[in-house]
Amino acid sequence: MSPTPTYRPSLDFLHAIPKTDLHVHLDGSLRIETVRELAAEYQLPHNFRTAGDVRRVCQVDQNCSSLEEYLKVFEVTLQLMQRVEDLERVAYELAEDAHHENVRYMEVRYSPLLHRGAEVLGKLAQFLEAGFAAPQDIDRPADLHQIHRATGL
Ligand SMILES: [Zn+2]
Repeated sequence: MSPTPTYRPSLDFLHAIPKTDLHVHLDGSLRIETVRELAAEYQLPHNFRTAGDVRRVCQVDQNCSSLEEYLKVFEVTLQLMQRVEDLERVAYELAEDAHHENVRYMEVRYSPLLHRGAEVLGKLAQFLEAGFAAPQDIDRPADLHQIHRATGL
């Protein structure tokens, strides 16, 4: 008996199909370059000279054994999202990245209580909304609107 053939879709196919993301954490969605730039601005003790440096601290591997271990990464990224402009930037970049991955609907999660300062907390919905709505250069604003609406803002 011959082995059952395994179907492996191509990356082109996976990219082309419209997708949803029903559970994405804003604080787990920062671009590597953004982590490097913001860590330097915030003067974090981590030495993020290369993308590999960021991955070693901010990514878990497939052997991650607990939710606590998985969420520990957020302790780093949350430190980088404490100013209005940081949250707007991260929201913008997440919407842009999702668009480029052909994500048509996305539900983004974040915890307002983890962002310090009355200025940030009081305006959180306002600047996240601005970040998700900002990408004007993307050719399918309806999709981004859908992403934006999915945040519930
Ligand atoms: Zn979650």
